[in-house]
Amino acid sequence: MSELSRPKKVVVLGSTGSIGESSLKVARDLPGRMTLIGLAANSSVASLAAQINEFGITQGCLYDPIGLDRLRSGVPSGVTLHSGEAGLIELATLPEADLVLIAIVGVAGLRPALAAIEAGKDIAVASKEILVMAGEAVMTAARKKGVKVLPVDSEHNAIFQCLEGHDSRSVSRLILTASGGPFRQLPAAELPDVTVERALKHPTWEMGRKITIDSATLFNKGLEMIEARWLFDIEMRRVDVIVHPQSIVHSMVEFIDGSILAQLSTTDMCFPIQYAVTWPERVANTLPPLDLAQLARLDFEVPRWDDFPALRLAKEAGETGGTLPAVLNAANEVAVSAFLERHLSFPGIWDTVAETMSRHRSLSQPGLDDIIEADLWARRTAKELI
Ligand code: NDP
Repeated sequence: MSELSRPKKVVVLGSTGSIGESSLKVARDLPGRMTLIGLAANSSVASLAAQINEFGITQGCLYDPIGLDRLRSGVPSGVTLHSGEAGLIELATLPEADLVLIAIVGVAGLRPALAAIEAGKDIAVASKEILVMAGEAVMTAARKKGVKVLPVDSEHNAIFQCLEGHDSRSVSRLILTASGGPFRQLPAAELPDVTVERALKHPTWEMGRKITIDSATLFNKGLEMIEARWLFDIEMRRVDVIVHPQSIVHSMVEFIDGSILAQLSTTDMCFPIQYAVTWPERVANTLPPLDLAQLARLDFEVPRWDDFPALRLAKEAGETGGTLPAVLNAANEVAVSAFLERHLSFPGIWDTVAETMSRHRSLSQPGLDDIIEADLWARRTAKELI
């Protein structure tokens, strides 16, 4: 068996979530290519126990120690269980791991990601927060260590595929596609009446609650613009967005000769997860192929920049850099929670983020502690505003 086709030993942080479950589906589909060796969740004891048992995992982590005893009683005695951030780091640095897939929602995956890089592991990143808050630090650390940061987010995975084999100087624009969310055609005057139930109904993707709301406000696309800026080391002005309601073209790259390369597939996160795991190889799977004739058409529109201020706020944060992206991200997290708890209107989400950003004095070239501090400051400020 060649070095490339040996099964990759993979740790999944956030295995019980939407991305985590899709990663496990890929592992079931490709047993000869992906061997799960460590799984971590926050507090979902029953799901984590079931996953550990199904895959014969020997290293698990439950971030919240309260459920640890219950987890222990649900798995074989030989399984080593950890908790807290130290536990996540333990899993992220397992000597036998080839790849650490980070699918934790929020900021908790940041230190484990850096620890994995430091330990010389390739990382596959789904958690947007990591690259939005600390993209510069993460990519610098990865370059220094000579490890790969593989994007799992479908848009960045698409760009990663389109860029393969091309010099970055030949790129004129990265074009992120956006579904436009459930309110793509809703008149601006009706946005204040949007309910939680309506915002949670995404037209094309099945995802966790936080990212589904982010898709409705377009903050998701904004965060992805910042992510792309760091992942592909390209200035914000060359990161563009186009609305594509069918979510079939996952993103595109325009080159200086005017050619555009795009990556297409059905809307299933197993595609980008699989590519991140099997990269640089392509491997046959049981996923449904795309039937272009049945699809018949693909539409593209200019985003409603004025009605959905998230894009402009993200552009500003990405251009300014420093601690401002972390502030945007944290204020948005607080605002989305408040919206989900019905304490804030739908437009209140971007109003809160805009006001928090305007009160922040961004620090350039921040260290990890500065970033965490800015994150905490933004959470406090956003909460006060709400
Ligand atoms: P979910 O809310 O569905 O899942 C989150 C996962 O993270 C759960 O397994 C949860 O465990 C775990 N988790 C949360 N906090 C911790 C912690 N402190 N320690 C360990 N595990 C923790 O989110 P998604 O899967 O939708 O999203 C995950 C990330 O991927 C997000 O950053 C999102 O933006 C990004 N992403 C998601 C996409 C999607 O299609 N869903 C697409 C592209 C990116 P528990 O079950 O115990 O709470």
